[in-house]
Amino acid sequence: MLSRLARLPIAVVTTAALIAAPAQARQACTGAPGHVQSPVEIDRSQNCGAATPAITISYGFADGQMQFRDKNLNGVVDNHDDVSFIPDNFSDPHIMYGTTKYDLTEVHYHFDAEHKFQGQAAAPAEAHFVHKDATGDTVVLGVLIDGVSVPATDAHDHPLNGVPTTLGASWSVGSVNLAGMLPAGKASFRYSGSLTSSPYTPVHWVVFNDHVEATGSTIAQAKAPFGTAGNNRNRQNVAPRIHPGNP
Ligand SMILES: [Zn+2]
Repeated sequence: MLSRLARLPIAVVTTAALIAAPAQARQACTGAPGHVQSPVEIDRSQNCGAATPAITISYGFADGQMQFRDKNLNGVVDNHDDVSFIPDNFSDPHIMYGTTKYDLTEVHYHFDAEHKFQGQAAAPAEAHFVHKDATGDTVVLGVLIDGVSVPATDAHDHPLNGVPTTLGASWSVGSVNLAGMLPAGKASFRYSGSLTSSPYTPVHWVVFNDHVEATGSTIAQAKAPFGTAGNNRNRQNVAPRIHPGNP
């Protein structure tokens, strides 16, 4: 008996070691679906079946307003604030999500990127194309943006150039190339997540696999008002069900 008791501390030590390094919690592909909090790191090897419903993107060029938004209305730059393009009503940028029309309400930017693919470095910026249907249901297209010296297009540089440092400022921008802001390859990964700032409500996420480019100095200048911490939320700990799609 004494000999058996003497072994107990060894078993306790082993259990503690396992608890100290748990696997990341992952939503199973089966069972009741649920939204996770966003952003997340996306593991491309995870596949819970093809994405549905079909999405058709109808973007062209749009005029509108750029805004350095004080989203908390607290008069202080913090990580809930953003730089956002608000298209006017005339160009009607939208997506069809199945048979339902979702209007593009804004394209806002995070510095650094919020989403990240496993095995890949975090990008310096991410654009979120926010769409809402008549009920307020939300679909967001996420585009990761790399900083380079000479980007393939100026689609993101155009609205981001000359962003003022005054919180609450807005200014007109014409001929924003919405279609050109998306990657040429439309492979994507969908999951059920949330807004990444208050009120963190449920969102259908579509994150494109391919990155796009903007001028590194333009990204740095647009990020500067937010300081080195930027305006991105930390990636959350629960890995969602991932559905590959196009988009
Ligand atoms: Zn966002």
